[in-house]
Amino acid sequence: MNITAQANGVEISSYSSAVAQNLAYMGTAAAEWAPVEIRRMATTKNDAGADVSMPEFDFPEGFKSAESMYRNTGAGEGMNCELCGHMIKNAFWLRNDTRRWLLLVGSECVTHFSGGDSGMRLDKSALWKANRELVERYRKFVSEFLRKNSIMKRSLWGNSYRTWSLYNGEWEYRRRLKLLGSYTADSSDRHVTSLVRRNGEAMLREMESKIG
Ligand SMILES: [Zn+2]
Repeated sequence: MNITAQANGVEISSYSSAVAQNLAYMGTAAAEWAPVEIRRMATTKNDAGADVSMPEFDFPEGFKSAESMYRNTGAGEGMNCELCGHMIKNAFWLRNDTRRWLLLVGSECVTHFSGGDSGMRLDKSALWKANRELVERYRKFVSEFLRKNSIMKRSLWGNSYRTWSLYNGEWEYRRRLKLLGSYTADSSDRHVTSLVRRNGEAMLREMESKIG
């Protein structure tokens, strides 16, 4: 089982959901946002007195700070990307010409908007696909757990019952199974997405744990 791919799956899906939630919160579509052009690189001094090259942005007139879920408070806690919420070192800017808003973003987020007409690469269908893959991997993990740690036996009276080779096996199995909720292969994309939002991190932790 490929743990790295699973970790990436969660990372991609939680990044995408943070961005998708924030875009919805701001009432804007990804396609409305474009990078603020860099006019030139200017040399300035950093806090330690060394020369650093900083981009000089071509800010549009009369734009305001976007009403993001992740607004920077500026209280000396470092900077966060106002699109995905991650802490960032280098500031870039996105502009929304409809709302006349500016959004401070990190180097990762800005690249998703630099393709011009292609807009943001992590669109809704990519997010849904990543979420479904995670839940499917977890479902397989749970049935593998059942198969590896228990066997069906038949009693003298002919009825079958399950016995566990793992201490607390049944309890561990039920605990894992619970994270799947009412998921089936027919569950809708919305169902899967809310399941990942609730239990995605816990699913990943279970798949990474060595118990059983
Ligand atoms: Zn970001």
